[in-house]
Amino acid sequence: MSESEARRPVVLRGGTVLTLDDAHTVLTDADVLVVDDRIAAVGPGLSVPDGTEEIDARGGIVMPGMIDTHRHMWQTAMRGYGADWTLTQYFVWYYLEHGRAFRPEDVYAGNLVGAIEAVDAGVTTTVDWSHGLQTAQHADAAVDALQAVPGRFVLGYGNIQDAPANWTASPEFRDFVDRRMSGDRDMLGFQLAFDVTGDPAFPEKPAFEVARELAVPVTTHAGVWGATNDDGIRLMHDHGFMTPETVYVHAATLSADSYHRIAATGGSVSVSTESEQSAGQGYPPTWALRNHGIPVSLSMDTTVWWSGDLFSAMRTTLGADRSREHLEAHARGETVTHAALRSEQVVDWATRGGARSLGRDDLGSLEVGKKADVVLIRNEHSPVMFPLLNPYGHVALQAQRGDVEAVIVDGRVVKRDHRLVGIDLAGARRTVEATVDHLRSTLGEEAWEAGMNPEVPETKVLDNPYTYTDYRSASTHEAQNS
Ligand SMILES: [Zn+2]
Repeated sequence: MSESEARRPVVLRGGTVLTLDDAHTVLTDADVLVVDDRIAAVGPGLSVPDGTEEIDARGGIVMPGMIDTHRHMWQTAMRGYGADWTLTQYFVWYYLEHGRAFRPEDVYAGNLVGAIEAVDAGVTTTVDWSHGLQTAQHADAAVDALQAVPGRFVLGYGNIQDAPANWTASPEFRDFVDRRMSGDRDMLGFQLAFDVTGDPAFPEKPAFEVARELAVPVTTHAGVWGATNDDGIRLMHDHGFMTPETVYVHAATLSADSYHRIAATGGSVSVSTESEQSAGQGYPPTWALRNHGIPVSLSMDTTVWWSGDLFSAMRTTLGADRSREHLEAHARGETVTHAALRSEQVVDWATRGGARSLGRDDLGSLEVGKKADVVLIRNEHSPVMFPLLNPYGHVALQAQRGDVEAVIVDGRVVKRDHRLVGIDLAGARRTVEATVDHLRSTLGEEAWEAGMNPEVPETKVLDNPYTYTDYRSASTHEAQNS
């Protein structure tokens, strides 16, 4: 595909348009015109330049590209392997035992398929929380993969095999930054990704100073049960390293004091509800963050366990928040009659929330002059696309990744008619298969199988106290036993 062909103006005709502008304007039977890398016009019956490519959006929803602010893309090479893990098993496998077995080409493989997967699902910007960068060669491989896919990415540079103060001070890291991160950061942003242990000596301080010197944000797993806690937040705050650019991932087991510090310094939280529900970082915190006015973005964390699309993030976040709200009310003997968290809000978090978190005012909404990252949700073969009555609810609770018909990133059509454009999926499959072969043979069959099938804890099955021949109601049962 030539440059001129790729950047042909394109218009999406006749859709329900969720602009996600400040007023959250929703237009029906409206068009979105893209010229070069920008939104050129939004409205009904637009006249367009000669030669504009037309995409039929009738019956569909046109919305801004979604933004995932925390994904360990290198782990996509192990998709689904850890479906039954806890956080402890994840830490042992990646941090202590087998994470070291990843070669640069394995990081490339994971990132490549993770990047393709993101674009396919309408996630036009993804933060690659890349904490498997044991060497600069691994980092080069990570970036090579991100640049091979026509999505927008942010490299969160990290290395779980070494202390943040060490790897950020290494000449090879500085050389990598000079070589790969010194140019335009529009399509490939840059963050430093490391965690704060809470050690009173604050050994992460030099790494924060490097981030400040390079003028890049820090993203950090904060409030993770058993791993990071209020001490880390307090140390960051006391040393002046909590800024509006800082992204706190999970923030699920923090006190009100920590939430106050995050709110007061203007940072945001990346909530990974599917992850928090299953791995055990803490209860998905949106219900608490809302009460503190802390900005939220959404993320999927890793496909070694979960799905990798933001429809799942929106759905589980709505469910977890409402579940908590009901539970808290029931504990007080009360009934929730009106849900506080609305589908409109989670759609905002999946788009504008991510843009705010990344300091990208030019992303996250469909407004004239903004970058043209656009998603069309439409599926003529699905009975779930009609009736289309409540478009935010439809996005959050009805649609799924297979309904993403078209995706535009930076003005380029990268998915059309439910098919990726110009992406070598077969090549990506072969690349990942080679990585799986390498890991499987390196670990050995026994360790490979054991890693995927953790032991089930022993449970004592109690005798069933209920019988059908000698029925007693719960109240008589209690009375007889009191
Ligand atoms: Zn994570």
